[in-house]
Amino acid sequence: MVTEKMYEKLAELAVRRGVNVQKGQPLIIRAAVRDAEFVRMVVRKAYEAGAKSVTVDWTDQELSRMNFDYQSIETLSDIPDWVYDRMKNQQDNGAAYLGIMSDKPGGLKDCDPKKLNAYQQAYHRKVADLQAYTMNNIGQWCLFGIPSVEWAKVVFPDLPDEEAFEKLGDAIFAVTRVTEDNDPVKDWQEHDEELIRHAGKLTEYQFKALHFTSGLGTDLTVELVKDHIWCGGGCFTPKGVYFDPNMPTEEVFCMPLKTGTNGIVHASKPLSYQGKVIEDFWFRFENGKVVDFDAKKEKETLKSLVEFDEGSCYLGEVALVPYDSPISRSGILFFDTLYDENAACHLALGNPYPENLRGGTEMSEEELLAHGANKSMTHEDFMFGTKDMSIDGITEDGKAVPVFRNGNFVF
Ligand code: ZN
Ligand code: ZN
Repeated sequence: MVTEKMYEKLAELAVRRGVNVQKGQPLIIRAAVRDAEFVRMVVRKAYEAGAKSVTVDWTDQELSRMNFDYQSIETLSDIPDWVYDRMKNQQDNGAAYLGIMSDKPGGLKDCDPKKLNAYQQAYHRKVADLQAYTMNNIGQWCLFGIPSVEWAKVVFPDLPDEEAFEKLGDAIFAVTRVTEDNDPVKDWQEHDEELIRHAGKLTEYQFKALHFTSGLGTDLTVELVKDHIWCGGGCFTPKGVYFDPNMPTEEVFCMPLKTGTNGIVHASKPLSYQGKVIEDFWFRFENGKVVDFDAKKEKETLKSLVEFDEGSCYLGEVALVPYDSPISRSGILFFDTLYDENAACHLALGNPYPENLRGGTEMSEEELLAHGANKSMTHEDFMFGTKDMSIDGITEDGKAVPVFRNGNFVF
């Protein structure tokens, strides 16, 4: 059972280790109105840690749904200037961003996908030059979740509300490494060190490509950009502030060469996208591009992801997660990427992380493209790791080095 004390520890962990708000730094929190009580706790912790100001951007999924239902596509696509100006002002003041999520997965699934797409594209276009702030880790940011009945009912549809909520709560706190009697900050330190060790080893190898096979039928070669850097654990801002952007995190990840992926990949878990749940799907890649795909459920939604923009049919991320990770072992499908992506090896369609390329965060868009990076306004992870997954690293001279056997690291 999740106790009050554990919520306090989570709030403290998010503020001190997750976003690691600094003395005199503004903090922007995005959270749902249903979580007001917990959010107040986080705000208090942030002030105690020395935050200069804490601003909460309240969200409500029901209101979002009404906006999508009642507003025209033109209205939704017309993002006012103040949205840009406000974010610009926050960034100019060196703000940190903390996101607390608890919304019902698939809560927008009955909304018109054309409207959702139009809004997202318009929004990303409007704030395009401000996205580097979090994408390149210029300022700290952190995303984590807390349970809600709405979310729990999706994960455990057959349980009564109370029981479902408790079970989801137990799972979330366990995988976020917060228990009644542990020191979560210390546990996170040790966990990050292990991720950093794996990432360091892979970076040292500088594999030309990774070759993935699984019993689901995956047979995929993903070429990596030259001078790539495997990342995992926390990140540093240019000012040297350490933070953990995702809580939980179990992955080490890298940048695929845009035109270097070939073969077929079968997803091992459903993908929740734009409020819909896509199931049993696969992609076939040729020279980096998705040339064919299918899904047993929500193929149209998958199509709108692949065709989102010019870069959404190419990969932007390849990530390795051991089958023995706590989220994987929990056996729970959270229907949210933050958790589910940490249950299994995954790939992302869309934009890459410049930090995965040596000097990447200082490169212009043209330089990144010249190094073989993809570019897109979206970044969507999907899981393909399995219990029997094998991965070989392919060296420049064509030798195969075992990286994963039976779903786990060999080193
Ligand atoms: Zn990832
Ligand atoms: Zn990702």
